[in-house]
Amino acid sequence: MAAPDRPVRQADWRAVACDLCCANEAEILGSREVIVRGRTSDFEMRFDDVACGRCGFVQALKRPDERFLMDYYRDAHIGHRGGELHFDGASRLAAVATRVPTGGRIIEIGANDGAFCAELSKAGFDAFGFDPVEADEAADVEKGFLEAGIAAAQPKSADAVIAYYVLEHVIDAGAWLRSALALLKDGGVLILEVPNYATHPQDSLNPEHLLHFTPETLRELLEQHGLMIEAGAMSPTVAYGQAIAARLTDPALAETPRPVSDAFLAGATARLAEARTAYAAAKADRDQRQAAAENACRLAQEADPSGKASAFIWGANEYAERAAPLLAQAFSSVQVVDKSASKIGTPFPGLVAPIAHPDVAEDAKARVFLLCSPNWNTQIAEEIRASGWDALAVIDAVTGKAA
Ligand SMILES: [Zn+2]
Repeated sequence: MAAPDRPVRQADWRAVACDLCCANEAEILGSREVIVRGRTSDFEMRFDDVACGRCGFVQALKRPDERFLMDYYRDAHIGHRGGELHFDGASRLAAVATRVPTGGRIIEIGANDGAFCAELSKAGFDAFGFDPVEADEAADVEKGFLEAGIAAAQPKSADAVIAYYVLEHVIDAGAWLRSALALLKDGGVLILEVPNYATHPQDSLNPEHLLHFTPETLRELLEQHGLMIEAGAMSPTVAYGQAIAARLTDPALAETPRPVSDAFLAGATARLAEARTAYAAAKADRDQRQAAAENACRLAQEADPSGKASAFIWGANEYAERAAPLLAQAFSSVQVVDKSASKIGTPFPGLVAPIAHPDVAEDAKARVFLLCSPNWNTQIAEEIRASGWDALAVIDAVTGKAA
């Protein structure tokens, strides 16, 4: 089947100074080029991953232009809209409720479909949010990510500004933080969650993230902007994350941040060494994931050397993205299925069939299943066996073994 003509979008990538210390002393850790397929276009992502030679902060040396990034998020971002909950919602709510009085105004940046804002409203808060998703996809969320959305919000009006898994995506950490803090009342609280590069570099280094924070570098950024970090560790609500809450105690710094501290710079050598080690670990992890995908596809081929069975990839995620092109070489029908309705219609490389759920597939052909959920594969395998579908093989694409 001939591939339909799809435009390849390229950004204007520009080198920037370090977000934390303003130095131009990047040490290259490695480069990654990834084509991400969106609903209508392909997006070329080119990352030069660097550690700042002066302070050790890990980041993308070059950043794409704002227009490219916003188009990317509208077209290609596989968000967590609708469907299953991917985070610990109760602890997310508790983190806000222990810091903001009932009735307080909460602004969420990166609110997806507004599900958490709705939870906050139910709990008695005055909550609303912004997200780059189209307005018709998200009833409770204002269209527009930063400029349009934030400009429309009243300055210094929020008791809390919250942003889960947003800061690692932004082009300019300082500019984003200043916009966010402009909404916060003096003494208000900022609650952030971002991937933890120190513990999960492989998750931080995905095809969407520009900034890779450790607890130390995140703290330094917030302190430069007049925030006082709240005492006591906060549990992240996603396995690979880190959560932090900080009060705006010095509003002048929120507008004009202080320079990087000498105490922070004193730790640069150790931080650089950690950055290199974590980067190597992430690469090893990527290689292992690729090997697992290749093993899973080999097992699928062994289960049906004719390639005539209907092959299903269960779960639209990065494991599916690795497995789909491999499986498409061996099977004439490959479909990705996912319980989250928002992912239906998201194209995956190598797909030759539209995305559908196997329980609506009308043909009675034998089926091969590749399961792609790191957390739920055992359960999904049981569901498939209980379903009565004619499964030639049920394979775990995360481990590369039979499920
Ligand atoms: Zn730096």
